[in-house]
Amino acid sequence: MRTITDTTLGDFSGERLEWDGPFRIVECGRALSPSGLDEMDYALNPYGGCEHGCIYCYAPGHTHSDLAGWRVVRVKRNVIDRLSRELPFADGIIGIGTVTDPYQAAEGRFRLTRGCLEVLASRGRRIHIHTKSDLVLRDIDILSGMDCVVGITFTGVDPRVSKMTEPGAPLPEARLRAITGLLDGGVRTYALVAPTMSTAEGHEAEIIDALRSTGVRRVYVEPLNLRLVDTTRLDRMGITPSPKAVAEMARLCREAGILGMGVVRRY
Ligand code: SF4
Repeated sequence: MRTITDTTLGDFSGERLEWDGPFRIVECGRALSPSGLDEMDYALNPYGGCEHGCIYCYAPGHTHSDLAGWRVVRVKRNVIDRLSRELPFADGIIGIGTVTDPYQAAEGRFRLTRGCLEVLASRGRRIHIHTKSDLVLRDIDILSGMDCVVGITFTGVDPRVSKMTEPGAPLPEARLRAITGLLDGGVRTYALVAPTMSTAEGHEAEIIDALRSTGVRRVYVEPLNLRLVDTTRLDRMGITPSPKAVAEMARLCREAGILGMGVVRRY
């Protein structure tokens, strides 16, 4: 990847919203890479890094980045063009946001995810999006006409816990609204309770009730996996994995008939 100076920013014709976080403009060598995930064939990440700053983020470990550097958003200015060129050689489901959130606030300004969606929609491609952000609703006009699945990640209902553990991400209320909005727009949508941390203990029913109120019909519950995580901030806050909360939420979902099992691509 080559870093370009900020003076090249004028090349972006998209509308500028007020987002003003730290970023670097870069060029990517490729837009698509094999995903390594069961539910997707290719991974597409219009941005590098992520401003959400989740304390449980495994991505810096996965990508060999340092934590502070990971919060600087790398804006892949040529990703739409690269995607157009690579698509004829890539069959299968394109996963968007496999390593970082494609709808982090920078997308409000740079619109790379939307540009990629326009290309993918024009070629009739099948996609699978992961996000924590209600900004995804901006693109409902494109998504509702595509063969797509969207997974919204949700870790709990308490906004104070969310502010502590995912300081740059939209609050739980916004994510619930995103699920409802996507479903109302005819987009196949599931909720991913992940990672399940000790902060969910005692709130399991509240969390599942909140998700049920959105109308979502499929919920996946995943444990906190510490394998690639720098646990410094988790340890400082006394947050641990919680098999107990995973089991309880899975039980509640099973009872409600909304527990997602197996590979998401069959959704
Ligand atoms: S949204 Fe995902 S990539 Fe971004 S900081 Fe949180 S866990 Fe990491």
